[in-house]
Amino acid sequence: MKRLFFISLLAVLCQGVTAQFYTTENRPAAIRFFNRPTERREIVLPTIDGYTLYKADFHTHTIYSDGDVTPRQRVREAWYDGLDILAITDHLEIRTYEKFMLKVLAPYNTTDEPFKYEHAGIANKKDNNYPVMANLNAAYDEAVYYAERENLPIMLVRGTEIWRNTKSIGEYNALFLNDINAICHPDIFESFRRVKEQGGLIMHNHPGYTRTTSEIAEGEQARAYSEGWIDGVEAINSTSLYKGIISRCLDRGLFMMANTDAHGPTSHDWPATGEFFRTMTFIMAKSCTEKDIKEALKAGRTIGYMANNLFGDERYLSAFINEAVTCRIVSRNDKGDVTYSLTNSCSVPFTLCRGTSIHRLKPFTTLKITISKGAEPKFKVDNMWHRDEQHPTVIIAVDKKK
Ligand SMILES: [Zn+2]
Repeated sequence: MKRLFFISLLAVLCQGVTAQFYTTENRPAAIRFFNRPTERREIVLPTIDGYTLYKADFHTHTIYSDGDVTPRQRVREAWYDGLDILAITDHLEIRTYEKFMLKVLAPYNTTDEPFKYEHAGIANKKDNNYPVMANLNAAYDEAVYYAERENLPIMLVRGTEIWRNTKSIGEYNALFLNDINAICHPDIFESFRRVKEQGGLIMHNHPGYTRTTSEIAEGEQARAYSEGWIDGVEAINSTSLYKGIISRCLDRGLFMMANTDAHGPTSHDWPATGEFFRTMTFIMAKSCTEKDIKEALKAGRTIGYMANNLFGDERYLSAFINEAVTCRIVSRNDKGDVTYSLTNSCSVPFTLCRGTSIHRLKPFTTLKITISKGAEPKFKVDNMWHRDEQHPTVIIAVDKKK
């Protein structure tokens, strides 16, 4: 007995010792999980009206403003997370790490001119000729460089976040720019004008941030809308849904978006092996080119995605589920009740509700549902959201082919 105890103790100790010496070959999956993924997650989506759904994140930050990761890491994670389009949108005005970088670089300065540690921000500058101390295109240029060098085929959009008084005017992402430096101006409306001059689009970011409501604020923000500067609104930022924005976008002909606004690594908030993906926007476009993506945005062809919930125009949501799910009649019983099979061929699950019954149709699975005589396969889809944050009720068309 004593001997058995000793052997057991030895076994436990040995396990403990060997566990500290895993090599790259023998380390268990639990440890490999923490390393950079080797495969891209593929997000399978239906096509709608002949359009492909491209997966995009139009709001992320890097160390070039107040983010915690490099542009290189943003590109890598976007590709591994299954995105087709990424915009790095570092702040024009908030460049937290810049002064630290300048301090580090100061001893390398060989000129007589001292490095300035002054914040490059422009929010509080009164003159029109404030200096742009850094090259604000640097993060985008670096992202393009590493995407090419590491063979990560992803469309990169040059953008920036314009951040002024969060309560009176709010925050805006300028997207599809040619030169971020050129849009700097203390007057935000002059910045807007320069964005449009470059053919860029303007998105109103997280409309309820630091406010008690996501309604349009009186004054400068109302002016930005009424003068037509705004092309779209971010209804979903990270894991927050801003009330009333889907309706605002539909009523005003603006595109609606869902983005991460990631500052840290996306794997912190959206683990790569989880059952859902990072927050993103699905864009219905003919191809993944700047021209076609901009055309799709101007036409408002987007669906927001957050934690396996879909947000947008009821028409698109209904089309999405009808294209993703194949519905067939399996059998009829003596009473005339019909059993349907519903096959989900996409990466997004659907929560289908009929009265008190709830059916969860997981990705790439088939579910059988019996519906009483005379009724249609009609469901309230609880993980879809349209106007006024309501769930649409959709009829899933029966596939007549079989
Ligand atoms: Zn942001």
